[in-house]
Amino acid sequence: MIPAMPSTGYRGLSLWHDTIDDIEPRPSLDRDLEVDVAIVGAGYTGLWTAYHLVTADPSIRVAVIEKEVAGYGASGRNGGWCSALFPASLRRMAAERGRDAAVRMQHLLHDTVADVGRIATAEGIDCHFDQGGYLSVARNPAQLERVREEVAEHREWGFGEADHRLLDAHEVTAFAGVSDALGGSFTPHCAAIHPARLVRGLADAVERRGVVIHERTMAADVRSHRVVTPHGTVRADHVVLATEGYTPTVAGRRRAIAPIYSLMTATEPLPEHLWAQIGLDKRTTFADNRHLTIYGQRTRDGRIAFGGRGAPYHYASKVSPLYDRDERVHAALRRILVELFPVLDGVTFTHAWGGNLGVPRDWFPSVRHDRHTGLAFAGGYVGDGVATSALAGRTLAAMIRDDDPDDLASLPWAGRTSRDWEPEPLRWLGVNAVTALMTSADWSERRTGRPSRAASAFWAALGQ
Ligand SMILES: Cc1cc2nc3c(=O)[nH]c(=O)nc-3n(C[C@H](O)[C@H](O)[C@H](O)COP(=O)(O)OP(=O)(O)OC[C@H]3O[C@@H](n4cnc5c(N)ncnc54)[C@H](O)[C@@H]3O)c2cc1C
Repeated sequence: MIPAMPSTGYRGLSLWHDTIDDIEPRPSLDRDLEVDVAIVGAGYTGLWTAYHLVTADPSIRVAVIEKEVAGYGASGRNGGWCSALFPASLRRMAAERGRDAAVRMQHLLHDTVADVGRIATAEGIDCHFDQGGYLSVARNPAQLERVREEVAEHREWGFGEADHRLLDAHEVTAFAGVSDALGGSFTPHCAAIHPARLVRGLADAVERRGVVIHERTMAADVRSHRVVTPHGTVRADHVVLATEGYTPTVAGRRRAIAPIYSLMTATEPLPEHLWAQIGLDKRTTFADNRHLTIYGQRTRDGRIAFGGRGAPYHYASKVSPLYDRDERVHAALRRILVELFPVLDGVTFTHAWGGNLGVPRDWFPSVRHDRHTGLAFAGGYVGDGVATSALAGRTLAAMIRDDDPDDLASLPWAGRTSRDWEPEPLRWLGVNAVTALMTSADWSERRTGRPSRAASAFWAALGQ
């Protein structure tokens, strides 16, 4: 169990929590409750589900049970890429439900990016949404080969220049002054956001529409028609589990999802003369094409928020605030960012934080609702949950209401279940071996310029 943080402690969770108003927790559940839908977890998944339920039918009674406060988890801490990225490839999606469903899913993901911005505006949520697209830079020949393959593959699926296009080195530099750029790709389907503003704003928006949110209330047992908490039981026709990287801490679900830590760092607000050299004028989000993912954004207040993987997986899927910081990984992130933008040498880094991603055994997110038990789940987004969770919430609401005019229940991720992870110590060995493999593959690609065969074999085994 994660110890509760003091009410004054939320500001320390991330740059994002540090740049919003102080959080005053909502009242905990202190009695039994009966509603139509009980949702466990007040991150994007839980709140988008609540949002779509009550906008479709204002009479539905929805309660959200949150162990800490809305936005305590990954939804308040992430890199702020509201993107159309999806952890499973189009090929794998097609293997689930056919080619048309895969292409439809990708189009819906594209649309969802803009939907998030549109709904935020309509609800008065100033989440600093700027759809400046996503720049993927190739900084060695192996990365360039991968970028070319990715764009070519998108073409085969019918996506054109307007969705994803190759850039030469000169074009990359027009977006951003990244060092060693050999080329890259650009997609407009990504917006930079302030994640905590979005999740806190969503909580307020659903509350205005009658959803009850109980914070500082831990669901000790989540089962059919029932959520048991220390001070009351919520009875409901439908129960939604929206706990993503915390899912292994919920009774009976230890192997459902592996909590993988992603860590972030942020600079001080940078002066204009540095921005003149860095670029990113439209707040285009950026990464290079290494295997061990990195991601960055220019914030509205003129910082760079930059993150990446590489933190260890902890034995038995343990989750703890102690794992949010790892000086070895944070130092590596600061070093990589300065490598990307050498003009940052000497700038002050003001924040270091982290959080957990939910990684399913097959890296394929799911959204499902069992009509007989009333139990529902959405998640397993790996690191691509910001926009994806909005589509998941819309899909779950349609499934729960049994009213699905857009036929979202036939999408490739609907109704499926990933198999459980292996028991320990295999899980610990496997997950940490993959991190080591990716680190060494990146190192070898940088040195030789040739794509790593070991990493390619890993992605192929995953069906990517
Ligand atoms: C550092 C980092 C960077 C990321 N960057 C990006 C990015 O740039 N773009 C992107 O698309 N995705 C990114 N992600 C992933 C994305 O943030 C997540 O996929 C998404 O926020 C998941 O939302 P969620 O609501 O499913 O889970 P969460 O936001 O984690 O919410 C789960 C909630 O459940 C609560 N909870 C847990 N257990 C219980 C319990 N027993 N009882 C009651 N409540 C409980 C938690 O307190 C938490 O608030 C990143 C993630 C991290 C950690």
